[in-house]
Order: sequence, then structure tokens, then C-alpha cells
Amino acid sequence: MFRILLLLALVGVVVWMITARRREPPAPPPADLPKSPGAPQAMLACGHCGVHLPRDEALCDAQGRAFCSEAHRLAGPR
Ligand SMILES: [Zn+2]
Repeated sequence: MFRILLLLALVGVVVWMITARRREPPAPPPADLPKSPGAPQAMLACGHCGVHLPRDEALCDAQGRAFCSEAHRLAGPR
């Protein structure tokens, strides 16, 4: 009888250890890094008025020259 109780206790401990391990919360995901403002961008000068603007805001003509606006692109380089 004592052996059965001991066996049940052992089984209970094993089950408890397994379930306790499963209940452990998963590791929290790494905290989001603060968003970097982005890689520095090349600044281009408008071919018409000379104002500087980021490359992704520039309008380029067929020759690859950058302009600050559609009006200046149509006006062409000065
Ligand atoms: Zn311009």
C-alpha cells in the first residue's frame, strides 16, 4: 500500500513539474526598438531654383536632374 502511495506521489510530482514548466510564460518578445528616423538621405538641389530637398521628394527629368516641383521640372534648369 505504501508503495502505491509513493508511486502516486511520484507521478503527481512529475505531472506537476511538467505542467508547471508548460505554464511558464514564454519569453517576452524583444522590446521594440525606437523607430529610427531613417537612414540619412541624400539631398539634391533643384535644377531650377537651387532649393535642397530629399532625394525621395525630388522630381527628376529625363536627364536625371532633380527638381523641387513639377513647375520647376517643366521650366527646366536655369
Ligand atoms: Zn525649384
